[in-house]
Amino acid sequence: MKKIAVLTSGGDSPGMNAAVRAVVRSAIYHGCKVYGVNRGYKGLIDGDLFEMDLSSVGDIIHRGGTILRSARCEEFRTEEGRKKAHNVLNVFGIDGLVVIGGDGSFQGAQKLSEMGFPAIGVPGTIDNDLAYTDYTIGFDTALNTVLDAISKIRDTSSSHERISIIEVMGRHCGDIALYAGVAGGAEIIIVPEEEYDIDEICKRLIQSNNRGKKHSIIMLAEGVGNANEIMEQIKEKTGLDSRATILGHIQRGGTPSAFDRILSSQMGAKAVELLLEGKASRVVGIKNNEIIDMDIHEALSMERKFNSNLYKLASILAK
Ligand code: ADP
Repeated sequence: MKKIAVLTSGGDSPGMNAAVRAVVRSAIYHGCKVYGVNRGYKGLIDGDLFEMDLSSVGDIIHRGGTILRSARCEEFRTEEGRKKAHNVLNVFGIDGLVVIGGDGSFQGAQKLSEMGFPAIGVPGTIDNDLAYTDYTIGFDTALNTVLDAISKIRDTSSSHERISIIEVMGRHCGDIALYAGVAGGAEIIIVPEEEYDIDEICKRLIQSNNRGKKHSIIMLAEGVGNANEIMEQIKEKTGLDSRATILGHIQRGGTPSAFDRILSSQMGAKAVELLLEGKASRVVGIKNNEIIDMDIHEALSMERKFNSNLYKLASILAK
Protein backbone atom coordinates (compact mmCIF):
# COMPACT_ATOMS: atom_id res chain seq x y z
CA MET A 1 0.00 0.00 0.00
CA LYS A 2 1.27 3.44 -0.91
CA LYS A 3 1.47 6.24 1.60
CA ILE A 4 0.71 9.75 0.38
CA ALA A 5 1.14 12.99 2.35
CA VAL A 6 -0.62 16.29 1.66
CA LEU A 7 0.16 19.82 2.81
CA THR A 8 -1.04 23.37 2.17
CA SER A 9 1.59 26.09 1.97
CA GLY A 10 2.06 29.82 1.39
CA GLY A 11 -0.88 32.22 1.14
CA ASP A 12 -4.15 30.38 1.76
CA SER A 13 -6.99 30.38 -0.75
CA PRO A 14 -10.64 29.33 -0.73
CA GLY A 15 -10.87 25.80 -2.09
CA MET A 16 -7.74 24.43 -0.41
CA ASN A 17 -9.96 22.35 1.88
CA ALA A 18 -11.88 20.95 -1.07
CA ALA A 19 -8.53 19.98 -2.62
CA VAL A 20 -7.35 18.28 0.60
CA ARG A 21 -10.66 16.41 0.71
CA ALA A 22 -10.19 15.24 -2.86
CA VAL A 23 -6.63 14.06 -2.19
CA VAL A 24 -7.64 12.15 0.94
CA ARG A 25 -10.79 10.53 -0.43
CA SER A 26 -9.40 9.58 -3.82
CA ALA A 27 -6.19 8.19 -2.27
CA ILE A 28 -8.23 6.06 0.14
CA TYR A 29 -10.45 4.98 -2.76
CA HIS A 30 -7.29 3.71 -4.50
CA GLY A 31 -6.24 1.81 -1.38
CA CYS A 32 -3.59 4.23 -0.10
CA LYS A 33 -2.90 5.59 3.35
CA VAL A 34 -2.94 9.37 3.61
CA TYR A 35 -1.11 11.66 6.00
CA GLY A 36 -1.93 15.32 6.54
CA VAL A 37 0.98 17.65 7.29
CA ASN A 38 0.21 20.62 9.51
CA ARG A 39 1.53 24.11 8.63
CA GLY A 40 3.11 23.37 5.27
CA TYR A 41 6.86 22.79 5.04
CA LYS A 42 7.26 23.75 8.71
CA GLY A 43 5.20 20.72 9.72
CA LEU A 44 7.24 18.56 7.40
CA ILE A 45 10.47 19.62 9.10
CA ASP A 46 8.91 19.24 12.58
CA GLY A 47 7.40 15.83 11.78
CA ASP A 48 3.89 17.19 12.40
CA LEU A 49 2.07 14.53 10.36
CA PHE A 50 -1.10 12.62 11.20
CA GLU A 51 -3.04 9.92 9.45
CA MET A 52 -6.27 11.06 7.81
CA ASP A 53 -9.37 8.98 7.18
CA LEU A 54 -12.57 9.51 5.22
CA SER A 55 -14.29 11.39 8.02
CA SER A 56 -11.33 13.68 8.77
CA VAL A 57 -12.25 15.60 5.61
CA GLY A 58 -16.00 15.52 6.21
CA ASP A 59 -17.87 18.83 6.27
CA ILE A 60 -14.99 20.88 4.86
CA ILE A 61 -15.75 21.22 1.13
CA HIS A 62 -17.57 24.50 1.77
CA ARG A 63 -15.08 25.94 4.26
CA GLY A 64 -12.56 28.66 3.39
CA GLY A 65 -9.02 28.58 4.77
CA THR A 66 -7.30 25.23 5.26
CA ILE A 67 -7.81 22.68 8.03
CA LEU A 68 -4.13 21.72 7.61
CA ARG A 69 -3.21 25.34 8.23
CA SER A 70 -0.61 27.12 6.18
CA ALA A 71 2.72 28.71 6.97
CA ARG A 72 5.77 30.27 5.46
CA CYS A 73 8.95 28.43 6.40
CA GLU A 74 12.35 30.03 5.94
CA GLU A 75 14.14 26.87 7.11
CA PHE A 76 12.82 24.92 4.13
CA ARG A 77 14.64 27.33 1.82
CA THR A 78 17.92 25.94 3.18
CA GLU A 79 19.44 22.64 2.13
CA GLU A 80 19.66 21.59 5.76
CA GLY A 81 15.97 22.28 6.33
CA ARG A 82 15.00 20.31 3.25
CA LYS A 83 17.18 17.39 4.37
CA LYS A 84 15.30 17.31 7.67
CA ALA A 85 11.99 17.30 5.79
CA HIS A 86 13.21 14.53 3.50
CA ASN A 87 14.24 12.44 6.51
CA VAL A 88 10.82 12.91 8.11
CA LEU A 89 9.13 11.75 4.91
CA ASN A 90 11.35 8.65 4.87
CA VAL A 91 10.84 7.90 8.56
CA PHE A 92 7.05 8.03 8.10
CA GLY A 93 7.43 5.80 5.04
CA ILE A 94 5.75 8.34 2.75
CA ASP A 95 5.98 7.52 -0.98
CA GLY A 96 4.72 10.77 -2.46
CA LEU A 97 3.71 14.31 -1.46
CA VAL A 98 0.96 16.61 -2.73
CA VAL A 99 1.77 20.30 -2.23
CA ILE A 100 -1.18 22.70 -2.48
CA GLY A 101 0.12 26.26 -2.78
CA GLY A 102 1.47 29.00 -5.00
CA ASP A 103 4.68 29.42 -6.96
CA GLY A 104 6.91 29.62 -3.87
CA SER A 105 5.47 26.36 -2.57
CA PHE A 106 6.01 24.83 -6.03
CA GLN A 107 9.67 25.83 -5.91
CA GLY A 108 9.90 23.97 -2.61
CA ALA A 109 8.22 20.93 -4.23
CA GLN A 110 10.66 21.15 -7.12
CA LYS A 111 13.60 21.10 -4.71
CA LEU A 112 12.19 18.00 -3.00
CA SER A 113 11.78 16.32 -6.38
CA GLU A 114 15.40 17.13 -7.19
CA MET A 115 16.31 15.24 -4.00
CA GLY A 116 14.55 12.22 -5.46
CA PHE A 117 11.28 12.56 -3.56
CA PRO A 118 8.10 12.46 -5.71
CA ALA A 119 6.13 15.68 -5.26
CA ILE A 120 3.09 16.96 -7.16
CA GLY A 121 1.92 20.59 -7.06
CA VAL A 122 -1.71 21.69 -6.98
CA PRO A 123 -2.13 25.44 -7.61
CA GLY A 124 -3.78 27.02 -4.57
CA THR A 125 -3.58 30.81 -4.74
CA ILE A 126 -6.08 33.59 -5.31
CA ASP A 127 -3.53 35.46 -7.46
CA ASN A 128 -3.95 33.39 -10.65
CA ASP A 129 -0.27 34.12 -11.32
CA LEU A 130 0.87 30.70 -12.59
CA ALA A 131 1.50 30.75 -16.32
CA TYR A 132 0.87 27.07 -17.10
CA THR A 133 -2.73 26.99 -15.87
CA ASP A 134 -5.75 29.05 -16.90
CA TYR A 135 -7.05 29.16 -13.33
CA THR A 136 -5.72 28.60 -9.83
CA ILE A 137 -7.82 27.42 -6.89
CA GLY A 138 -9.35 30.40 -5.07
CA PHE A 139 -9.17 32.94 -7.89
CA ASP A 140 -12.85 32.66 -8.81
CA THR A 141 -13.97 32.98 -5.18
CA ALA A 142 -11.71 36.00 -4.65
CA LEU A 143 -13.20 37.61 -7.78
CA ASN A 144 -16.68 37.19 -6.40
CA THR A 145 -15.62 38.65 -3.06
CA VAL A 146 -14.13 41.67 -4.84
CA LEU A 147 -17.24 42.01 -6.99
CA ASP A 148 -19.40 42.12 -3.90
CA ALA A 149 -17.16 44.82 -2.44
CA ILE A 150 -17.31 46.84 -5.69
CA SER A 151 -21.12 46.85 -5.56
CA LYS A 152 -21.11 48.12 -2.00
CA ILE A 153 -18.47 50.76 -2.65
CA ARG A 154 -20.33 51.83 -5.78
CA ASP A 155 -23.46 52.57 -3.70
CA THR A 156 -21.69 54.99 -1.40
CA SER A 157 -19.47 56.35 -4.16
CA SER A 158 -22.60 57.22 -6.12
CA SER A 159 -24.41 58.78 -3.13
CA HIS A 160 -21.45 61.01 -2.37
CA GLU A 161 -20.44 61.62 -6.00
CA ARG A 162 -16.91 60.39 -5.41
CA ILE A 163 -14.16 58.56 -7.19
CA SER A 164 -13.34 55.27 -5.46
CA ILE A 165 -10.00 53.59 -5.86
CA ILE A 166 -10.14 49.93 -4.85
CA GLU A 167 -6.83 48.16 -4.30
CA VAL A 168 -6.93 44.41 -4.73
CA MET A 169 -4.43 41.58 -4.25
CA GLY A 170 -2.55 39.58 -6.85
CA ARG A 171 1.07 40.49 -6.10
CA HIS A 172 2.76 41.11 -9.48
CA CYS A 173 -0.31 39.79 -11.34
CA GLY A 174 -3.21 42.02 -12.41
CA ASP A 175 -5.82 39.30 -12.99
CA ILE A 176 -7.96 40.00 -9.93
CA ALA A 177 -8.08 43.72 -10.78
CA LEU A 178 -8.80 43.03 -14.45
CA TYR A 179 -11.47 40.33 -14.13
CA ALA A 180 -13.24 41.92 -11.15
CA GLY A 181 -12.99 45.30 -12.90
CA VAL A 182 -14.65 43.96 -16.04
CA ALA A 183 -17.34 42.13 -14.06
CA GLY A 184 -17.96 45.15 -11.84
CA GLY A 185 -17.99 47.70 -14.67
CA ALA A 186 -15.04 49.66 -13.30
CA GLU A 187 -14.29 52.85 -15.20
CA ILE A 188 -10.51 52.43 -14.99
CA ILE A 189 -8.30 49.40 -14.36
CA ILE A 190 -4.64 49.76 -13.41
CA VAL A 191 -2.48 46.62 -13.55
CA PRO A 192 1.29 45.96 -13.51
CA GLU A 193 1.20 44.32 -16.96
CA GLU A 194 0.06 47.52 -18.74
CA GLU A 195 1.61 50.96 -18.54
CA TYR A 196 -0.61 53.72 -17.27
CA ASP A 197 -0.48 57.47 -17.47
CA ILE A 198 -1.86 59.29 -14.45
CA ASP A 199 -2.50 62.45 -16.48
CA GLU A 200 -4.52 60.46 -19.04
CA ILE A 201 -6.55 58.91 -16.21
CA CYS A 202 -7.18 62.32 -14.65
CA LYS A 203 -8.23 63.73 -18.03
CA ARG A 204 -10.78 60.92 -18.40
CA LEU A 205 -12.12 61.53 -14.90
CA ILE A 206 -12.51 65.27 -15.54
CA GLN A 207 -14.23 64.63 -18.89
CA SER A 208 -16.63 62.15 -17.26
CA ASN A 209 -17.33 64.62 -14.49
CA ASN A 210 -18.08 67.36 -17.03
CA ARG A 211 -20.41 64.98 -18.84
CA GLY A 212 -22.38 64.63 -15.63
CA LYS A 213 -20.93 61.35 -14.39
CA LYS A 214 -20.08 62.14 -10.82
CA HIS A 215 -18.73 58.83 -9.57
CA SER A 216 -16.18 56.36 -10.88
CA ILE A 217 -14.59 53.12 -9.77
CA ILE A 218 -10.87 52.60 -10.31
CA MET A 219 -9.51 49.09 -9.82
CA LEU A 220 -5.89 49.04 -8.76
CA ALA A 221 -3.73 45.90 -8.59
CA GLU A 222 -1.45 45.92 -5.55
CA GLY A 223 1.57 45.23 -7.78
CA VAL A 224 1.30 48.76 -9.22
CA GLY A 225 1.37 50.75 -6.02
CA ASN A 226 -0.58 52.00 -3.06
CA ALA A 227 -4.20 53.17 -3.43
CA ASN A 228 -3.70 56.10 -1.05
CA GLU A 229 -0.84 57.48 -3.11
CA ILE A 230 -2.83 57.23 -6.35
CA MET A 231 -5.80 58.86 -4.60
CA GLU A 232 -3.65 61.83 -3.52
CA GLN A 233 -2.38 62.28 -7.07
CA ILE A 234 -5.91 62.17 -8.48
CA LYS A 235 -7.22 64.63 -5.88
CA GLU A 236 -4.41 67.02 -6.57
CA LYS A 237 -4.66 66.85 -10.36
CA THR A 238 -8.46 66.85 -10.71
CA GLY A 239 -9.76 68.51 -7.56
CA LEU A 240 -12.38 65.73 -7.44
CA ASP A 241 -13.40 64.01 -4.22
CA SER A 242 -11.76 60.57 -4.01
CA ARG A 243 -11.51 57.74 -1.53
CA ALA A 244 -9.19 54.73 -1.37
CA THR A 245 -10.20 51.28 -0.14
CA ILE A 246 -7.65 48.52 0.33
CA LEU A 247 -9.59 45.26 0.41
CA GLY A 248 -6.78 43.17 1.93
CA HIS A 249 -7.28 39.74 3.42
CA ILE A 250 -11.04 39.68 2.97
CA GLN A 251 -10.10 38.43 -0.52
CA ARG A 252 -8.47 35.29 0.82
CA GLY A 253 -11.44 34.11 2.89
CA GLY A 254 -14.96 32.88 2.44
CA THR A 255 -16.74 29.81 1.24
CA PRO A 256 -15.32 28.65 -2.11
CA SER A 257 -17.43 29.19 -5.23
CA ALA A 258 -18.89 26.23 -7.11
CA PHE A 259 -16.17 26.66 -9.73
CA ASP A 260 -13.37 26.51 -7.15
CA ARG A 261 -14.87 23.48 -5.41
CA ILE A 262 -15.13 21.56 -8.67
CA LEU A 263 -11.65 22.65 -9.77
CA SER A 264 -10.15 21.62 -6.40
CA SER A 265 -11.90 18.26 -6.49
CA GLN A 266 -10.59 17.48 -9.97
CA MET A 267 -7.07 18.73 -9.30
CA GLY A 268 -6.72 16.92 -5.96
CA ALA A 269 -7.81 13.65 -7.53
CA LYS A 270 -5.46 14.16 -10.49
CA ALA A 271 -2.48 14.69 -8.16
CA VAL A 272 -3.16 11.33 -6.51
CA GLU A 273 -3.53 9.62 -9.90
CA LEU A 274 -0.14 10.99 -10.97
CA LEU A 275 1.58 9.66 -7.85
CA LEU A 276 -0.04 6.27 -8.36
CA GLU A 277 1.22 6.23 -11.94
CA GLY A 278 4.70 6.69 -10.53
CA LYS A 279 5.02 10.27 -11.78
CA ALA A 280 7.07 12.77 -9.84
CA SER A 281 7.90 16.42 -10.19
CA ARG A 282 4.65 17.43 -11.91
CA VAL A 283 2.07 20.17 -11.40
CA VAL A 284 -1.65 19.94 -12.07
CA GLY A 285 -3.53 22.65 -13.97
CA ILE A 286 -6.51 23.41 -16.17
CA LYS A 287 -6.13 24.39 -19.82
CA ASN A 288 -9.06 24.95 -22.18
CA ASN A 289 -11.34 23.28 -19.64
CA GLU A 290 -9.22 20.11 -19.42
CA ILE A 291 -7.32 19.04 -16.31
CA ILE A 292 -3.68 18.78 -17.33
CA ASP A 293 -0.29 18.06 -15.77
CA MET A 294 3.13 19.37 -16.63
CA ASP A 295 6.73 19.07 -15.53
CA ILE A 296 7.18 21.36 -12.54
CA HIS A 297 10.39 22.91 -13.88
CA GLU A 298 8.82 23.67 -17.25
CA ALA A 299 5.69 25.10 -15.57
CA LEU A 300 7.71 27.42 -13.35
CA SER A 301 9.82 28.69 -16.22
CA MET A 302 6.84 29.65 -18.39
CA GLU A 303 6.09 33.31 -18.86
CA ARG A 304 2.63 34.51 -17.90
CA LYS A 305 0.46 35.80 -20.72
CA PHE A 306 -1.75 38.70 -19.69
CA ASN A 307 -5.22 38.88 -21.20
CA SER A 308 -4.63 42.16 -23.01
CA ASN A 309 -7.72 41.69 -25.20
CA LEU A 310 -9.91 41.74 -22.12
CA TYR A 311 -8.01 44.75 -20.84
CA LYS A 312 -8.67 46.63 -24.10
CA LEU A 313 -12.32 45.62 -24.05
CA ALA A 314 -12.64 46.92 -20.49
CA SER A 315 -11.49 50.34 -21.56
CA ILE A 316 -13.88 50.36 -24.58
CA LEU A 317 -16.86 49.40 -22.43
CA ALA A 318 -16.14 51.68 -19.49
CA LYS A 319 -17.08 55.21 -20.43
P1 ADP B 1 3.24 30.83 -2.19
O1 ADP B 1 3.35 29.35 -2.25
O2 ADP B 1 1.84 31.29 -1.86
O3 ADP B 1 3.84 31.51 -3.41
P2 ADP B 1 5.61 31.61 -0.63
O4 ADP B 1 6.32 32.22 -1.79
O5 ADP B 1 5.64 32.34 0.65
O6 ADP B 1 4.06 31.33 -0.92
O7 ADP B 1 6.23 30.14 -0.42
C1 ADP B 1 5.73 29.28 0.58
C2 ADP B 1 6.86 28.48 1.17
O8 ADP B 1 7.48 27.66 0.15
C3 ADP B 1 8.03 29.30 1.74
O9 ADP B 1 7.77 29.76 3.04
C4 ADP B 1 9.15 28.28 1.72
O10 ADP B 1 9.06 27.39 2.82
C5 ADP B 1 8.85 27.50 0.44
N1 ADP B 1 9.66 28.05 -0.68
C6 ADP B 1 9.44 29.15 -1.41
N2 ADP B 1 10.42 29.35 -2.32
C7 ADP B 1 11.31 28.36 -2.15
C8 ADP B 1 12.54 27.99 -2.77
N3 ADP B 1 13.07 28.72 -3.75
N4 ADP B 1 13.18 26.89 -2.33
C9 ADP B 1 12.65 26.15 -1.32
N5 ADP B 1 11.50 26.42 -0.71
C10 ADP B 1 10.83 27.50 -1.09
